[in-house]
Amino acid sequence: MPLFWGPGLRPTAHLVQEDGGMPDALAALRALVRIPTVSRQDPADTDWAPFRDLVTLLPSLYPATHRELGLEIVAEHSLLYHWKGSTDGPPTVLMAHYDVVPATDEGWEHPPFSAEVTGEGDERVVWGRGTLDDKGALVAVLEGVEASVLAGRTPRCDVYLSFGHDEETEGSGARAIVDLLQSRGIRAGLVIDEGGAIVEDVFPGVSGPIAVVGVSEKGILTVTLTVDQHGGHASTPPRLSATARLARAIVRLNRRPFRAGFSAPTLEMIGTLGAHARGPLRLAFTNLWLTRPILLALFARLSDETNALIRTTQAVTMLRGSQAANALAERAVATVNIRVSIDSRVADAVAHVRRAIHDPRVVIAVQHPHEPSPVSPTSGPGWELVRRTIGETFPGTIVTPYVMMAASDSRHFTRISDCVYRFSPFEMSAAERGTLHARNERLRVSTLLRGVDFYTRLIAGL
Ligand SMILES: [Zn+2]
Repeated sequence: MPLFWGPGLRPTAHLVQEDGGMPDALAALRALVRIPTVSRQDPADTDWAPFRDLVTLLPSLYPATHRELGLEIVAEHSLLYHWKGSTDGPPTVLMAHYDVVPATDEGWEHPPFSAEVTGEGDERVVWGRGTLDDKGALVAVLEGVEASVLAGRTPRCDVYLSFGHDEETEGSGARAIVDLLQSRGIRAGLVIDEGGAIVEDVFPGVSGPIAVVGVSEKGILTVTLTVDQHGGHASTPPRLSATARLARAIVRLNRRPFRAGFSAPTLEMIGTLGAHARGPLRLAFTNLWLTRPILLALFARLSDETNALIRTTQAVTMLRGSQAANALAERAVATVNIRVSIDSRVADAVAHVRRAIHDPRVVIAVQHPHEPSPVSPTSGPGWELVRRTIGETFPGTIVTPYVMMAASDSRHFTRISDCVYRFSPFEMSAAERGTLHARNERLRVSTLLRGVDFYTRLIAGL
Protein backbone atom coordinates (compact mmCIF):
# COMPACT_ATOMS: atom_id res chain seq x y z
CA MET A 1 0.00 0.00 0.00
CA PRO A 2 1.26 3.48 -0.76
CA LEU A 3 2.16 5.58 2.22
CA PHE A 4 1.43 9.23 2.45
CA TRP A 5 3.90 11.18 4.51
CA GLY A 6 3.50 14.81 5.42
CA PRO A 7 6.44 17.09 4.66
CA GLY A 8 9.59 16.28 6.56
CA LEU A 9 8.36 13.05 8.12
CA ARG A 10 11.04 10.41 8.17
CA PRO A 11 11.03 7.23 10.22
CA THR A 12 13.65 7.06 12.95
CA ALA A 13 14.54 4.28 15.30
CA HIS A 14 16.39 5.80 18.20
CA LEU A 15 14.11 5.11 21.12
CA VAL A 16 13.32 1.48 20.52
CA GLN A 17 16.45 -0.39 21.45
CA GLU A 18 17.08 1.04 24.87
CA ASP A 19 14.26 -0.99 26.37
CA GLY A 20 15.84 -4.25 25.24
CA GLY A 21 14.49 -7.25 27.11
CA MET A 22 11.04 -5.74 27.69
CA PRO A 23 7.94 -6.73 25.75
CA ASP A 24 7.60 -4.74 22.53
CA ALA A 25 4.35 -3.18 23.67
CA LEU A 26 5.96 -1.85 26.83
CA ALA A 27 8.97 -0.51 24.96
CA ALA A 28 6.68 1.20 22.47
CA LEU A 29 4.46 2.71 25.16
CA ARG A 30 7.50 4.03 27.02
CA ALA A 31 8.83 5.61 23.85
CA LEU A 32 5.49 7.33 23.20
CA VAL A 33 4.99 8.51 26.79
CA ARG A 34 8.40 10.17 26.74
CA ILE A 35 7.23 12.44 23.93
CA PRO A 36 5.23 15.21 25.64
CA THR A 37 2.34 15.62 23.20
CA VAL A 38 0.51 18.03 25.48
CA SER A 39 -2.48 19.74 23.93
CA ARG A 40 -3.29 23.16 25.36
CA GLN A 41 -6.74 24.73 25.52
CA ASP A 42 -5.60 27.40 23.07
CA PRO A 43 -3.97 25.61 20.09
CA ALA A 44 -1.64 28.61 19.71
CA ASP A 45 -0.05 27.61 23.04
CA THR A 46 0.57 24.02 21.96
CA ASP A 47 4.14 23.02 21.07
CA TRP A 48 3.61 20.95 17.92
CA ALA A 49 7.20 19.65 17.66
CA PRO A 50 6.56 16.64 19.95
CA PHE A 51 3.47 15.77 17.88
CA ARG A 52 5.62 15.60 14.77
CA ASP A 53 8.25 13.59 16.68
CA LEU A 54 5.68 11.01 17.72
CA VAL A 55 4.29 10.64 14.21
CA THR A 56 7.83 10.27 12.91
CA LEU A 57 8.62 7.57 15.46
CA LEU A 58 5.63 5.32 14.79
CA PRO A 59 6.92 3.59 11.61
CA SER A 60 10.03 2.37 13.43
CA LEU A 61 7.86 0.89 16.18
CA TYR A 62 5.37 -0.72 13.78
CA PRO A 63 7.15 -1.28 10.47
CA ALA A 64 4.85 -3.99 9.09
CA THR A 65 1.76 -1.87 9.80
CA HIS A 66 3.35 1.06 8.00
CA ARG A 67 4.22 -1.10 5.03
CA GLU A 68 0.78 -2.62 4.69
CA LEU A 69 -1.61 0.18 5.66
CA GLY A 70 -2.11 3.52 3.94
CA LEU A 71 -1.68 6.58 6.12
CA GLU A 72 -3.15 10.02 5.70
CA ILE A 73 -2.36 12.94 7.95
CA VAL A 74 -5.59 14.83 8.59
CA ALA A 75 -5.95 18.30 10.13
CA GLU A 76 -2.14 18.50 10.21
CA HIS A 77 -1.56 16.05 13.06
CA SER A 78 -4.31 13.44 13.23
CA LEU A 79 -3.64 10.02 11.71
CA LEU A 80 -5.97 7.95 9.57
CA TYR A 81 -4.67 4.51 8.60
CA HIS A 82 -6.46 2.39 6.04
CA TRP A 83 -6.13 -1.39 5.90
CA LYS A 84 -7.80 -2.79 2.81
CA GLY A 85 -10.05 -5.76 3.46
CA SER A 86 -10.68 -8.70 1.16
CA THR A 87 -14.40 -7.93 0.72
CA ASP A 88 -16.64 -4.87 0.51
CA GLY A 89 -18.57 -5.13 3.79
CA PRO A 90 -18.90 -2.23 6.22
CA PRO A 91 -15.54 -1.16 7.65
CA THR A 92 -14.43 -1.04 11.28
CA VAL A 93 -12.79 2.00 12.88
CA LEU A 94 -10.43 1.55 15.84
CA MET A 95 -9.78 4.82 17.61
CA ALA A 96 -7.36 6.34 20.11
CA HIS A 97 -5.81 9.74 20.67
CA TYR A 98 -2.19 10.62 21.26
CA ASP A 99 -2.45 14.04 22.86
CA VAL A 100 -2.38 14.26 26.65
CA VAL A 101 -3.40 16.79 29.27
CA PRO A 102 -0.62 18.88 30.84
CA ALA A 103 1.42 17.64 33.80
CA THR A 104 4.29 19.06 35.82
CA ASP A 105 6.68 16.99 37.94
CA GLU A 106 5.07 18.29 41.14
CA GLY A 107 3.37 15.59 43.18
CA TRP A 108 4.36 12.73 40.86
CA GLU A 109 6.19 9.77 42.36
CA HIS A 110 7.90 9.37 38.98
CA PRO A 111 8.09 12.29 36.53
CA PRO A 112 5.14 12.31 34.10
CA PHE A 113 7.18 12.09 30.90
CA SER A 114 9.88 9.69 32.10
CA ALA A 115 7.94 6.45 31.53
CA GLU A 116 9.75 4.83 34.45
CA VAL A 117 9.02 1.20 35.16
CA THR A 118 8.90 0.01 38.77
CA GLY A 119 8.28 -3.39 40.34
CA GLU A 120 9.15 -6.88 39.22
CA GLY A 121 7.58 -9.42 36.87
CA ASP A 122 3.79 -9.26 36.72
CA GLU A 123 3.78 -6.46 39.27
CA ARG A 124 5.57 -4.04 36.99
CA VAL A 125 4.00 -0.64 36.51
CA VAL A 126 4.79 1.97 33.86
CA TRP A 127 4.31 5.53 35.07
CA GLY A 128 3.48 8.59 33.05
CA ARG A 129 1.01 10.96 31.49
CA GLY A 130 -0.87 9.19 28.74
CA THR A 131 -0.29 5.61 29.91
CA LEU A 132 -4.05 5.21 30.58
CA ASP A 133 -5.32 8.13 28.54
CA ASP A 134 -4.81 7.20 25.79
CA LYS A 135 -1.41 6.10 24.49
CA GLY A 136 -1.87 2.68 26.12
CA ALA A 137 -4.88 2.03 23.86
CA LEU A 138 -3.01 3.37 20.84
CA VAL A 139 -0.21 0.88 21.50
CA ALA A 140 -2.68 -1.96 22.07
CA VAL A 141 -4.39 -1.27 18.74
CA LEU A 142 -1.12 -1.02 16.81
CA GLU A 143 0.33 -4.14 18.46
CA GLY A 144 -2.78 -6.05 17.38
CA VAL A 145 -2.53 -4.79 13.80
CA GLU A 146 1.22 -5.40 13.61
CA ALA A 147 0.86 -9.00 14.82
CA SER A 148 -1.93 -9.61 12.34
CA VAL A 149 0.01 -8.14 9.40
CA LEU A 150 3.11 -10.14 10.36
CA ALA A 151 0.95 -13.28 10.44
CA GLY A 152 -0.05 -12.51 6.85
CA ARG A 153 -3.71 -11.86 7.65
CA THR A 154 -5.99 -9.58 5.70
CA PRO A 155 -9.22 -8.44 7.37
CA ARG A 156 -12.48 -9.42 5.69
CA CYS A 157 -13.65 -5.80 5.56
CA ASP A 158 -11.68 -2.56 5.57
CA VAL A 159 -10.22 -1.41 8.87
CA TYR A 160 -9.43 2.21 9.66
CA LEU A 161 -7.28 3.38 12.56
CA SER A 162 -8.20 6.89 13.65
CA PHE A 163 -5.75 8.56 16.03
CA GLY A 164 -6.73 12.08 17.05
CA HIS A 165 -4.29 14.79 18.08
CA ASP A 166 -6.56 17.08 20.12
CA GLU A 167 -9.13 14.91 21.88
CA GLU A 168 -8.40 16.66 25.17
CA THR A 169 -9.30 20.07 23.77
CA GLU A 170 -11.33 20.65 20.61
CA GLY A 171 -11.51 17.21 19.02
CA SER A 172 -10.98 18.91 15.66
CA GLY A 173 -8.80 16.07 14.36
CA ALA A 174 -11.46 13.40 14.86
CA ARG A 175 -14.10 15.70 13.41
CA ALA A 176 -11.97 16.27 10.30
CA ILE A 177 -11.43 12.52 9.93
CA VAL A 178 -15.18 11.92 10.09
CA ASP A 179 -15.74 14.72 7.54
CA LEU A 180 -13.26 13.02 5.25
CA LEU A 181 -14.77 9.54 5.61
CA GLN A 182 -18.26 10.96 5.17
CA SER A 183 -17.22 12.80 2.00
CA ARG A 184 -16.08 9.42 0.65
CA GLY A 185 -19.47 7.89 1.42
CA ILE A 186 -18.09 5.56 4.05
CA ARG A 187 -20.35 4.17 6.78
CA ALA A 188 -18.67 2.07 9.46
CA GLY A 189 -20.21 -1.11 10.84
CA LEU A 190 -18.29 -0.81 14.09
CA VAL A 191 -16.34 1.94 15.88
CA ILE A 192 -14.37 1.39 19.10
CA ASP A 193 -12.88 4.23 21.14
CA GLU A 194 -11.82 4.92 24.73
CA GLY A 195 -14.47 5.24 27.41
CA GLY A 196 -15.44 2.35 29.63
CA ALA A 197 -12.97 -0.16 31.08
CA ILE A 198 -12.83 -3.26 33.28
CA VAL A 199 -13.78 -2.06 36.74
CA GLU A 200 -14.75 -3.44 40.13
CA ASP A 201 -16.85 -2.25 43.06
CA VAL A 202 -18.88 0.24 41.04
CA PHE A 203 -22.30 -1.27 41.46
CA PRO A 204 -24.03 -2.06 44.77
CA GLY A 205 -24.08 -5.76 45.58
CA VAL A 206 -21.85 -6.83 42.68
CA SER A 207 -18.27 -7.91 43.29
CA GLY A 208 -15.95 -9.16 40.58
CA PRO A 209 -14.89 -7.54 37.34
CA ILE A 210 -17.36 -5.67 35.11
CA ALA A 211 -16.65 -4.50 31.57
CA VAL A 212 -18.57 -1.27 31.11
CA VAL A 213 -19.01 -0.46 27.43
CA GLY A 214 -20.23 3.04 26.61
CA VAL A 215 -23.15 2.98 24.16
CA SER A 216 -23.97 6.67 24.32
CA GLU A 217 -22.64 9.96 25.66
CA LYS A 218 -24.44 12.71 27.45
CA GLY A 219 -24.72 16.02 25.63
CA ILE A 220 -22.78 19.04 26.76
CA LEU A 221 -23.16 22.79 26.68
CA THR A 222 -21.88 25.85 28.43
CA VAL A 223 -24.34 28.49 29.54
CA THR A 224 -23.26 31.95 30.62
CA LEU A 225 -25.47 33.99 32.92
CA THR A 226 -24.78 37.71 32.61
CA VAL A 227 -26.16 40.59 34.65
CA ASP A 228 -25.33 44.15 33.53
CA GLN A 229 -25.94 47.27 35.56
CA HIS A 230 -24.48 50.72 36.17
CA GLY A 231 -21.35 50.50 38.24
CA GLY A 232 -20.53 52.86 41.04
CA HIS A 233 -18.90 53.05 44.40
CA ALA A 234 -19.38 50.14 46.73
CA SER A 235 -20.22 52.58 49.56
CA THR A 236 -23.67 53.29 48.02
CA PRO A 237 -24.84 49.96 46.67
CA PRO A 238 -28.31 49.38 45.16
CA ARG A 239 -30.69 46.99 46.89
CA LEU A 240 -29.88 44.24 44.40
CA SER A 241 -26.43 44.60 42.85
CA ALA A 242 -25.42 42.70 39.70
CA THR A 243 -23.48 40.19 41.76
CA ALA A 244 -26.34 39.67 44.21
CA ARG A 245 -28.82 39.21 41.35
CA LEU A 246 -26.46 36.68 39.79
CA ALA A 247 -26.06 34.87 43.10
CA ARG A 248 -29.86 34.69 43.44
CA ALA A 249 -30.05 33.18 39.97
CA ILE A 250 -27.44 30.56 40.86
CA VAL A 251 -29.25 29.62 44.05
CA ARG A 252 -32.56 29.30 42.16
CA LEU A 253 -30.89 27.11 39.56
CA ASN A 254 -29.31 24.91 42.21
CA ARG A 255 -32.65 24.40 43.93
CA ARG A 256 -34.22 23.07 40.74
CA PRO A 257 -32.43 19.90 39.69
CA PHE A 258 -33.38 18.41 36.33
CA ARG A 259 -36.04 15.72 36.27
CA ALA A 260 -34.79 12.21 37.07
CA GLY A 261 -35.41 9.15 34.94
CA PHE A 262 -33.76 5.93 33.81
CA SER A 263 -32.64 5.88 30.18
CA ALA A 264 -32.92 2.61 28.27
CA PRO A 265 -29.16 1.77 28.49
CA THR A 266 -29.15 2.53 32.22
CA LEU A 267 -32.11 0.21 32.72
CA GLU A 268 -30.30 -2.47 30.74
CA MET A 269 -27.20 -1.93 32.88
CA ILE A 270 -29.22 -2.28 36.08
CA GLY A 271 -30.87 -5.45 34.75
CA THR A 272 -27.56 -6.97 33.62
CA LEU A 273 -25.60 -6.18 36.76
CA GLY A 274 -28.57 -6.72 39.07
CA ALA A 275 -28.77 -10.35 37.96
CA HIS A 276 -25.30 -10.79 39.52
CA ALA A 277 -26.05 -8.90 42.73
CA ARG A 278 -26.27 -10.61 46.10
CA GLY A 279 -29.34 -11.11 48.27
CA PRO A 280 -32.24 -8.65 48.35
CA LEU A 281 -30.46 -6.25 46.01
CA ARG A 282 -30.86 -8.76 43.22
CA LEU A 283 -34.61 -8.75 43.74
CA ALA A 284 -34.66 -4.95 43.71
CA PHE A 285 -32.62 -4.71 40.52
CA THR A 286 -34.40 -7.43 38.60
CA ASN A 287 -37.97 -6.43 39.46
CA LEU A 288 -37.83 -2.93 38.12
CA TRP A 289 -41.55 -2.89 37.28
CA LEU A 290 -42.04 -2.76 41.05
CA THR A 291 -38.95 -1.07 42.41
CA ARG A 292 -38.27 1.61 39.81
CA PRO A 293 -39.45 4.63 41.87
CA ILE A 294 -37.48 3.44 44.90
CA LEU A 295 -34.36 2.87 42.83
CA LEU A 296 -34.67 6.29 41.25
CA ALA A 297 -34.77 7.86 44.72
CA LEU A 298 -31.84 5.66 45.77
CA PHE A 299 -29.71 6.62 42.75
CA ALA A 300 -30.41 10.30 43.40
CA ARG A 301 -28.92 10.00 46.88
CA LEU A 302 -26.37 7.18 46.65
CA SER A 303 -23.52 9.15 45.09
CA ASP A 304 -22.80 12.00 42.72
CA GLU A 305 -22.08 9.41 40.03
CA THR A 306 -25.39 7.58 40.36
CA ASN A 307 -27.20 10.92 40.48
CA ALA A 308 -25.49 11.98 37.25
CA LEU A 309 -26.67 8.72 35.66
CA ILE A 310 -30.33 9.59 36.01
CA ARG A 311 -30.58 13.24 35.00
CA THR A 312 -29.12 16.24 33.26
CA THR A 313 -26.62 17.87 35.62
CA GLN A 314 -25.51 21.47 36.00
CA ALA A 315 -22.42 22.88 37.68
CA VAL A 316 -21.52 26.53 38.08
CA THR A 317 -17.83 26.46 37.29
CA MET A 318 -16.71 30.08 36.88
CA LEU A 319 -17.71 33.41 38.43
CA ARG A 320 -16.66 36.93 37.51
CA GLY A 321 -17.56 40.23 39.14
CA SER A 322 -15.84 43.52 39.77
CA GLN A 323 -12.12 44.07 39.28
CA ALA A 324 -11.76 46.10 42.46
CA ALA A 325 -12.69 45.52 46.07
CA ASN A 326 -14.42 48.90 46.37
CA ALA A 327 -16.20 49.10 42.97
CA LEU A 328 -19.58 47.63 42.09
CA ALA A 329 -19.53 45.17 39.22
CA GLU A 330 -20.88 46.62 35.98
CA ARG A 331 -21.14 43.08 34.75
CA ALA A 332 -21.39 39.85 36.72
CA VAL A 333 -20.99 36.58 34.85
CA ALA A 334 -21.41 32.95 35.87
CA THR A 335 -20.49 30.00 33.68
CA VAL A 336 -22.59 26.86 34.00
CA ASN A 337 -21.42 23.52 32.60
CA ILE A 338 -24.39 21.33 31.72
CA ARG A 339 -24.36 17.62 30.81
CA VAL A 340 -27.54 16.67 29.02
CA SER A 341 -29.23 13.34 29.75
CA ILE A 342 -29.50 11.14 26.65
CA ASP A 343 -33.30 11.25 26.91
CA SER A 344 -33.24 15.02 26.67
CA ARG A 345 -32.05 17.80 24.33
CA VAL A 346 -29.94 20.93 24.61
CA ALA A 347 -33.06 23.09 24.09
CA ASP A 348 -34.78 21.39 27.07
CA ALA A 349 -31.80 22.19 29.26
CA VAL A 350 -31.80 25.85 28.24
CA ALA A 351 -35.55 26.11 28.83
CA HIS A 352 -35.10 24.59 32.28
CA VAL A 353 -32.39 27.10 33.17
CA ARG A 354 -34.57 29.99 32.02
CA ARG A 355 -37.58 28.75 34.01
CA ALA A 356 -35.54 28.08 37.14
CA ILE A 357 -33.86 31.49 37.16
CA HIS A 358 -37.07 33.32 36.29
CA ASP A 359 -35.41 36.73 35.92
CA PRO A 360 -35.35 38.55 32.55
CA ARG A 361 -32.45 40.69 33.72
CA VAL A 362 -30.22 37.63 33.82
CA VAL A 363 -29.16 37.17 30.20
CA ILE A 364 -28.69 33.54 29.24
CA ALA A 365 -26.32 32.67 26.40
CA VAL A 366 -25.47 29.21 25.10
CA GLN A 367 -21.98 28.24 23.96
CA HIS A 368 -20.63 25.06 22.35
CA PRO A 369 -23.87 23.05 22.48
CA HIS A 370 -23.55 19.36 21.66
CA GLU A 371 -26.60 17.10 21.69
CA PRO A 372 -26.42 13.70 23.46
CA SER A 373 -25.24 10.99 21.10
CA PRO A 374 -27.60 8.34 19.75
CA VAL A 375 -27.62 4.99 21.54
CA SER A 376 -25.67 2.16 19.90
CA PRO A 377 -27.43 -1.23 19.99
CA THR A 378 -26.59 -4.03 22.42
CA SER A 379 -27.20 -6.66 19.78
CA GLY A 380 -25.93 -7.29 16.27
CA PRO A 381 -22.50 -8.34 14.95
CA GLY A 382 -20.52 -5.32 16.23
CA TRP A 383 -21.74 -5.61 19.80
CA GLU A 384 -21.40 -9.40 19.72
CA LEU A 385 -17.78 -9.16 18.57
CA VAL A 386 -16.93 -6.75 21.38
CA ARG A 387 -18.79 -8.83 23.97
CA ARG A 388 -17.24 -12.11 22.80
CA THR A 389 -13.73 -10.66 22.70
CA ILE A 390 -14.10 -9.31 26.23
CA GLY A 391 -15.29 -12.75 27.34
CA GLU A 392 -12.28 -14.47 25.74
CA THR A 393 -9.72 -11.97 27.02
CA PHE A 394 -11.16 -11.44 30.49
CA PRO A 395 -12.96 -14.70 31.43
CA GLY A 396 -15.64 -14.31 34.07
CA THR A 397 -16.17 -10.62 33.40
CA ILE A 398 -19.74 -9.29 33.22
CA VAL A 399 -20.28 -7.13 30.13
CA THR A 400 -22.76 -4.27 30.42
CA PRO A 401 -23.70 -1.19 28.40
CA TYR A 402 -23.55 2.18 30.12
CA VAL A 403 -23.94 5.87 29.35
CA MET A 404 -20.76 7.91 29.40
CA MET A 405 -20.83 11.18 31.32
CA ALA A 406 -17.80 12.62 29.59
CA ALA A 407 -17.42 13.47 25.93
CA SER A 408 -14.90 11.70 23.69
CA ASP A 409 -13.76 11.91 20.08
CA SER A 410 -16.07 9.02 19.23
CA ARG A 411 -19.13 11.29 19.42
CA HIS A 412 -18.21 12.59 15.97
CA PHE A 413 -18.36 9.05 14.57
CA THR A 414 -22.04 8.64 15.32
CA ARG A 415 -22.50 10.59 12.08
CA ILE A 416 -21.10 7.68 10.08
CA SER A 417 -21.92 4.67 12.25
CA ASP A 418 -24.82 3.30 14.28
CA CYS A 419 -22.49 1.08 16.32
CA VAL A 420 -20.05 3.21 18.33
CA TYR A 421 -18.69 1.56 21.48
CA ARG A 422 -16.52 3.30 24.06
CA PHE A 423 -14.34 0.76 25.80
CA SER A 424 -10.66 0.60 26.76
CA PRO A 425 -9.61 -3.03 27.35
CA PHE A 426 -7.79 -2.19 30.57
CA GLU A 427 -8.52 -3.24 34.13
CA MET A 428 -8.63 -0.03 36.16
CA SER A 429 -8.91 0.07 39.93
CA ALA A 430 -10.64 3.03 41.55
CA ALA A 431 -7.19 4.38 42.51
CA GLU A 432 -5.97 4.06 38.93
CA ARG A 433 -9.08 5.74 37.54
CA GLY A 434 -8.39 8.58 39.96
CA THR A 435 -5.10 9.27 38.17
CA LEU A 436 -6.81 10.12 34.86
CA HIS A 437 -6.10 13.79 34.16
CA ALA A 438 -4.40 13.81 37.59
CA ARG A 439 -1.06 12.96 39.18
CA ASN A 440 0.68 9.59 39.06
CA GLU A 441 -1.13 8.25 36.01
CA ARG A 442 0.17 4.74 35.52
CA LEU A 443 -0.60 1.40 33.92
CA ARG A 444 0.22 -2.09 35.12
CA VAL A 445 2.30 -3.89 32.52
CA SER A 446 0.13 -7.00 32.85
CA THR A 447 -2.89 -4.77 32.13
CA LEU A 448 -1.25 -3.36 29.03
CA LEU A 449 -0.44 -6.84 27.75
CA ARG A 450 -4.01 -8.02 28.25
CA GLY A 451 -5.19 -4.96 26.36
CA VAL A 452 -2.89 -5.99 23.52
CA ASP A 453 -4.37 -9.47 23.74
CA PHE A 454 -7.89 -7.97 23.47
CA TYR A 455 -7.10 -6.04 20.30
CA THR A 456 -5.19 -8.94 18.77
CA ARG A 457 -8.24 -11.19 19.26
CA LEU A 458 -10.66 -8.50 18.12
CA ILE A 459 -8.69 -7.80 14.94
CA ALA A 460 -8.52 -11.52 14.22
CA GLY A 461 -12.34 -11.46 14.21
CA LEU A 462 -12.59 -8.62 11.68
ZN1 LIG B 1 -8.74 10.27 26.49
